[in-house]
Amino acid sequence: MKENMVKMPTMDNKKDVFLRKANDFEVWWVTGSQHLYGTEVLNNVAEHTQTMVSFLNGQKKLPIKIFSTGVVASGEEIHQICEKANSSKKCIGVIFWMHTFSPAKMWIRGLKVLQKPILHFHTQFNAKIPWETINMDFMNENQSAHGGREFGFMMSRMKKNRKIVVGHWKDSKTQDKLFDWCNVVIGYHALKYTKVARIGDNMREVAVTEGDKVAAQLKFGFTVEGYGIGDLVAHINEISNKDIQRLIDRYQQEYHFDTAILKHASLIEAAKIELGLRQFLKEVNATAFTTTFENLHGMNQLPGIAVQRLMKEGYGFGAEGDWKTAALLYTLKTMSAGLEGGTSFMEDYTYHFDSDQSLVLGSHMLEICPSIAANKPSCEIHPLPIGGKADPARLVFDVSEGAAINISLIDLGNRFRMICNEVEVVNPPQDLPKLPTARTLWKPKPNFETAIEAWIYAGGAHHTVFSKALKTAHIFDLCEILDIELVVIDKMTSLLPLKNQLRTNEVFYYMNSFKA
Ligand code: MN
Repeated sequence: MKENMVKMPTMDNKKDVFLRKANDFEVWWVTGSQHLYGTEVLNNVAEHTQTMVSFLNGQKKLPIKIFSTGVVASGEEIHQICEKANSSKKCIGVIFWMHTFSPAKMWIRGLKVLQKPILHFHTQFNAKIPWETINMDFMNENQSAHGGREFGFMMSRMKKNRKIVVGHWKDSKTQDKLFDWCNVVIGYHALKYTKVARIGDNMREVAVTEGDKVAAQLKFGFTVEGYGIGDLVAHINEISNKDIQRLIDRYQQEYHFDTAILKHASLIEAAKIELGLRQFLKEVNATAFTTTFENLHGMNQLPGIAVQRLMKEGYGFGAEGDWKTAALLYTLKTMSAGLEGGTSFMEDYTYHFDSDQSLVLGSHMLEICPSIAANKPSCEIHPLPIGGKADPARLVFDVSEGAAINISLIDLGNRFRMICNEVEVVNPPQDLPKLPTARTLWKPKPNFETAIEAWIYAGGAHHTVFSKALKTAHIFDLCEILDIELVVIDKMTSLLPLKNQLRTNEVFYYMNSFKA
């Protein structure tokens, strides 16, 4: 490989793998009306639409643009715009707003074919009623209150999954819900085209990391493609010493460093692995990947710092062959790009039992993403007691306190289930000077015992995606779009309703499997 082919990574986590292309995408805005009120009203409706869409884009909260496709006032126009949305490579979701009344039988043909995620924005152009001047003209122009209900009825009648947002468009809480959904749509779109490179296989007999890859591709769109470790090793072996040195210089700038390890063979090897892995992923066009310490033939250490740095850039990752978590991490990272707080691969590792102060220590052998680091990570080399390979280099850091969520995607055989637990990250009560891994401590909601009992009843995995950037609302929206089961464990959770929910969901998803 020629030296100039190795491109140094950008460390700006807003520029993740997917969002380098985010300008190519739009969420469309379609305003519904009808011809009953005459041209003047329709002109005003079009003008109001422009004002609202410009205002929302002007908030600059999204990496993509909302694009107004204008006002539709007949069944033919509605059908046309839905067909256009389907075939457009730019359109990744559609916001519908009923400015006036738009009889919903007109919407049947269009909605029947529409395959993009839908948000029904139930808002009104005017915030306040002009008490002194309100007349029938004003009423005819501001009819969302019933126009949105007519539209909503048809969506419910057609059993269309969609997001409903109610509130005035200038209200920041309302905007946040709309923007959250747009971010989810970005992640959903990314998921459809994700390729997970599965380097090596599953870790022996582990069950929860397995699943039906055909079912996953049908449901989510992503593909899982297997590679032998030799495919990666070939790339690693082509890396030049000059490139390795440049990368180690970069490590020195970005991390705390004991200079004694600078010439350590493990550090040089780790940098070489990073460059080789990066080239490999680019070549196979993968945005997520898995490794396993059981398939390392030809490598002398498990990739640690390499995986950590690639995650920081937006790649999805799952350890021990966990392709579901790899795809999920890529999606959730894409959804959260630009938001505050990071998102990482995670594992529930060790408990700290202390009555109502009990905690979970989340970590992994090596692969925790520095996007969640509270402080400048420290680059260290320590032995790894499993796998029988050389001591890997890794980044060690803590995670700052505050709200976070843990998310797991499992395959139940007849369907996929997402499980989301709200947790509170706490500072460690004491230093952990001998722990050679990045780590976080959290208190799960509603409390330690209930949360973990609920998680285990639901079948949640030991591997998760941990996010300080996303909220349960994002995961809820994603599951609605994907049309998959979601089990939320939060401050409201108690076991009896949860167990009943799991039982009734069995029936619901069984019946749902007959849907055309
Ligand atoms: Mn693991």
